[in-house]
Amino acid sequence: MTVLVTGGCGYIGSHTCVELLELGYDVVVIDNLVNSKREVIDRITKIIGKEIIFYEGNVQDEKLLISIFNKHRIDVVIHFAGLKAVGESVKMPLEYYQNNLDSTLVLLSVMKECDVKKIIFSSSATVYGNAKIVPIKETSPVGGTTNPYGTTKLFVEHILQDLSIADPNFSIVILRYFNPIGAHKSGLIGDNPNGVPNNLMPYIVKVASKELEYLNIFGNDYPTKDGTGVRDYIHVVDLAIGHVKALEKVVKDKGVFIYNLGTGIGYSVFDIIEAFERENDIKILYKIKERRDGDVAICYADVTKAYEELGFKAKFGIKDMVRDSYNFYLKNRIEE
Ligand code: NAD
Ligand code: UDP
Repeated sequence: MTVLVTGGCGYIGSHTCVELLELGYDVVVIDNLVNSKREVIDRITKIIGKEIIFYEGNVQDEKLLISIFNKHRIDVVIHFAGLKAVGESVKMPLEYYQNNLDSTLVLLSVMKECDVKKIIFSSSATVYGNAKIVPIKETSPVGGTTNPYGTTKLFVEHILQDLSIADPNFSIVILRYFNPIGAHKSGLIGDNPNGVPNNLMPYIVKVASKELEYLNIFGNDYPTKDGTGVRDYIHVVDLAIGHVKALEKVVKDKGVFIYNLGTGIGYSVFDIIEAFERENDIKILYKIKERRDGDVAICYADVTKAYEELGFKAKFGIKDMVRDSYNFYLKNRIEE
């Protein structure tokens, strides 16, 4: 079976390619390298010892997509390609809507034309906005997104729902990720954001490596056990395995299926700092700052549906996540 992975050089896409190749799937990647490097393809090959077919190009390029679908017998598409920086999306809304929506529309129309009707889409817990009840179930209301990035995810979910109504032959799985962190144990692939990171774990790693002096903790007055924000962190390898499970579903059933991918456990910012310090034997300096605009106090998943319908359960714990995140940094620092 051949899987087209858009955005396969990125953080989650690269880990998913590894899991797919390991299980014997053939993988074709398209990525325009706007937020990743070509070298990731070689690293995936190094991990798994199998070749991967790579196209450097934009998913908005209809001609290129048609040629890929004509050349390879694609069975399923996993659509990761997209811009993902929340803060940047507020400053550049048009680029975010253009890239994330256009690429999906072009991809879906080419899929329809080429009669490939199985797709897994990378959505986000951000579509729940400020959920009133945790753990968050897939049936929780969506909407109230606080930035253009989140709104692109919500719009694409609507597009996919409408497509399924119009063409019931489509099989669509929407995966709402919680907070992916960690890296492959080899240290060869991981999260490598450009510039000053937005997200907690890459920021902590930069403090640990002394690239940044201290962590800004955005608020210690939330109604949580220690006042800091609580999130559902999931190891990226678990997340990748979740895609393999979703693939089994999409091959079998028609319609739209939505799943949370998380662990179901909420950790505060202090929990993460403490786990990181303990596991990596390193001190993380921090300062308490104002709350960050748009942040919610608590967000963690109800993971029952993914377990019952996909047989998916995260197996890595917080120790693995903080260890592997730092290992990726150390491994790459030594190699540079
Ligand atoms: P990433 O930026 O590491 O990977 C995305 C990849 O897509 C990059 O390699 C980038 O070069 C590529 N890309 C972007 N636009 C493209 C286009 N038009 N054509 C071809 N390639 C393009 O991001 P990630 O963390 O791996 O996230 C993957 C997907 O999951 C994204 O859609 C993201 O919005 C979503 N998501 C991520 C998180 C997270 O915390 N990392 C959480 C929820 C959802
Ligand atoms: N956070 C923080 N300092 C940072 C980045 C994040 O205190 O430099 C907090 C943030 O307020 C939230 C948690 O860490 O409570 C996770 O934030 P992240 O941006 O990683 O994920 P998201 O908010 O998108 O769930």
